[in-house]
Parts: sequence; C-alpha cells; structure tokens
Amino acid sequence: MKRRILFVPGKLPYVRGERPKVDCILCAVLRDDPRVDRLVLARDRSVFVTLNLYPYNPGHVMVVPRRHIVDPREATESERRAMALWRDRVMDALDEIYSPAGYNIGYNVGKRSGASLEHLHLHVVPRYKNEIGFLDVLSGTRVIVEEPGVSARKISGFLRKYRGGTKEKKR
Ligand SMILES: [Zn+2]
Repeated sequence: MKRRILFVPGKLPYVRGERPKVDCILCAVLRDDPRVDRLVLARDRSVFVTLNLYPYNPGHVMVVPRRHIVDPREATESERRAMALWRDRVMDALDEIYSPAGYNIGYNVGKRSGASLEHLHLHVVPRYKNEIGFLDVLSGTRVIVEEPGVSARKISGFLRKYRGGTKEKKR
C-alpha cells in the first residue's frame, strides 16, 4: 500500500503572502526567472507543466500555454492539442506516483472565478480518499510533509520520458 502523502502549506513562502514581484508569475516561471521558484516539470513548443504555486493538494499541477493568453478560446488548435496531451500525461504521472482517488480538472477564467493568475492555466488537482482538513493538521494526525521540490522531482522524473516534443506536425 502506498504511503499517504500530505503536505503542510505553511512551509511555503508564497503561502505566507510573499508573492514574487513580477508582472506574470507564469511567464516568469517559464523564463526561469530567479525571483520565482523553478518548478517547470516539463515543456514543449507550446505548453509547459508546472507545480501549482498555491497547491490545493500534493501533486497539484498546472498545464500552461507558453503564450500569455487569458481565455481558453484564445488557444490555437495546436495549443489545445498540447494542453490535452499534457493533461493526460500529468494524470498518468500522478496516478503512478500518488495513486489519487480522483481528479478535479479545469480552468478558472476571469476575475470573479477565483483565478489568482490571469495567464491561462489548466488545473489538474488530484483528490485523495482521506484528505485531511485543517483540524486534522492541528491535531497532528498522520501528517506527512512533502516539500514542493520533492513533488517536482518525482513528477518531472516521470514526465522526462516525453522529452523531445509532442511529435506534433507543424501547422
Ligand atoms: Zn503570463
């Protein structure tokens, strides 16, 4: 049986409100800007995969178009295909590493949607059978910390086999 992996978000500087001072965090992540954590797990010509900066659960990953677009309807045909392809690859990786019980997958679009980043990103949120609530954390039951760097290494290790592009034809 796999070990349950839980995560204490208080360990992360950005959860404590220290947001990096850049125009767009996702564009900065893509540029490997030193002011943001380097959490790119995989990339190809049109999209990249990053660990969520404000994780909801361990293994919360985002698939992001390289272009700074804000609405899924702005995506080109090849961006759409690449987003779907990497969504599936990420799910394969998370299944293998964390064996989640399910997923929430989707976009938040627009100011009133809860989106904290304008740059379009597809959330892939693994859901676990026994997710702990805040009180469980306080009572100290079964808390296993996984640092984002550890998640990043595991997931990027799995995605490494796809390096070399999505084998898509140029449009
Ligand atoms: Zn951006």
